[in-house]
Amino acid sequence: MDKKPQIPCATCGKPTNFFSPPTGPFCCQRCQLVDLGRWLNEEYRISEPLTPDHLEEYADLSGDSLDHAEDDGSH
Ligand SMILES: [Zn+2]
Repeated sequence: MDKKPQIPCATCGKPTNFFSPPTGPFCCQRCQLVDLGRWLNEEYRISEPLTPDHLEEYADLSGDSLDHAEDDGSH
C-alpha cells in the first residue's frame, strides 16, 4: 500500500492528497474554484484604482463567510 503525503487543503484546511488530480492541493473542486475566484478577484482589484468602496468589500470578505461555506456536508 502506498500512503501518499497529505497536506491541508489550501482553501479549507481539510487534510487532502496533494497529488490527486484534478483538484491539486485542494480537497475538492469547489475549494479549487474558491481559491481561483479569490485569486481572480485580487487581479481585478489590482488592475483598478483603489477607492474606499474597494476597502469596504474587503471588510465583508473577512474569514467567516468562507468558513461557513465549508460547513455543509463535511461533518
Ligand atoms: Zn477544501
